[in-house]
Amino acid sequence: MFLQLTRLAGHKNQLQNTLLTGTIFDVKRYAIHDGSGIRTTIFFKGCPLACLWCANPESQSYLPELTYISTECLSCGMCRQTCPNEAISLVDQKVIVAPEKCDLCGHCVENCPGNALQLMGRTVTLNGLFKEIETDRPFWDRSGGGVTLSGGEPLAQFDFILAFLNACKKKYISTAIETCLYTTLDKIKAILPVVDHVICDLKIMDSGRHKINTRVSNQMIKENMKILLVSGADVLVRMPLIPGINDDKKNLEAMGAFIESCRKGARVELLPYHRLGESKYRRMKKDYKLVHISPPSKEKMERARKVLETFDIHVLI
Ligand code: SF4
Ligand code: SF4
Repeated sequence: MFLQLTRLAGHKNQLQNTLLTGTIFDVKRYAIHDGSGIRTTIFFKGCPLACLWCANPESQSYLPELTYISTECLSCGMCRQTCPNEAISLVDQKVIVAPEKCDLCGHCVENCPGNALQLMGRTVTLNGLFKEIETDRPFWDRSGGGVTLSGGEPLAQFDFILAFLNACKKKYISTAIETCLYTTLDKIKAILPVVDHVICDLKIMDSGRHKINTRVSNQMIKENMKILLVSGADVLVRMPLIPGINDDKKNLEAMGAFIESCRKGARVELLPYHRLGESKYRRMKKDYKLVHISPPSKEKMERARKVLETFDIHVLI
């Protein structure tokens, strides 16, 4: 009887997993900066933060998005002909999509000869995604790598990623997660047994300044980070260094002191701000708010490192 019930529960779980779907916007293969060894990084859509310096504007919305760039358009009308929902019209040789008719099927994208239309994001099933990435196993095995979940914020798709991480662990695949930690503690506790490495961001220590630059307070982020660091989990803290936003001595000292108080010798990686995502803002017709800020010089990075190294933490650039 007990065995039957256990089997039934197992089947029910399998069925639930088959029905689970996630929304991702990219799968990056041969990644070498997202954890140990060579990794396959899966980027999940949707983020509760809206950092002004975000390099992946396509990660912010939880849903796939259809984008159009008129300078790439050949005005051929192929998209209009192939749209099953008659959602497309051509006005003054430019494509107009009626959002209320578009179901994001992607036919227009597949048939666009100019690459003017693109779908940012797609829905994946658990098994489909697993099959897609499992072909990379030889690279993971040889390099000590594995799978990294990134975003966006992967924890915002909690049920899906928990099932996915469990599936990875059942197949002995190393797992890592990149998270902003803006989530509830129960979710972090639930994934820890199936995550080998946690990479988490700390951007600004003052809660008011954090809210101005990212949309949310950092209270929950700091609480979660403290618990993670104290727990002894394998954690790398990442700090994007953005001139004029978080590179002042007061902020760096506050960050160094906080991390040291949570775990002496914690690993902290300083990442220089970059503007590589700016063209994506244009494609998505979103405003890029930091046009006036340039990436930090080597000297600025070193200065920040020196401030952080006055604390008992291990700083990497
Ligand atoms: S994604 Fe599909 S429904 Fe939407 S405009 Fe393109 S072809 Fe039409
Ligand atoms: S198919 Fe592509 S190139 Fe042709 S009109 Fe549509 S968007 Fe423009």
